[in-house]
Amino acid sequence: MMRTPRKTRVDRVIRRLQVILKALPLLCVRIGTNRDDQQEPAEEDTDAADALVVSELTDEVLVLDERPRYHLAACDWVGERPTIPLPVNEARQLGFTPCAVCAPDATLAAATRHP
Ligand SMILES: [Zn+2]
Repeated sequence: MMRTPRKTRVDRVIRRLQVILKALPLLCVRIGTNRDDQQEPAEEDTDAADALVVSELTDEVLVLDERPRYHLAACDWVGERPTIPLPVNEARQLGFTPCAVCAPDATLAAATRHP
């Protein structure tokens, strides 16, 4: 059976709508991810002794552009986000604060005490 040109045009519009509908959930996921991006992890409650130890260390931590926290490489919050490696003493000097999710200060201080 031959299709009339009009029917073909309708088919094309329907196909385009189907593509848009298929993309909608992806768009929603994108928006959701962006909203999550605005949330910052809490700051680690570093005790004074750990802070003193860590401020002398050059172990590498990760920072994210325009984010106040520094993280360990294994941090769950960092996940796939793009990071910049920095020595931890430098990160602290630059005003970055430790992430409560991965607790870099407690982890690095403990590793220094018990290598
Ligand atoms: Zn972290």
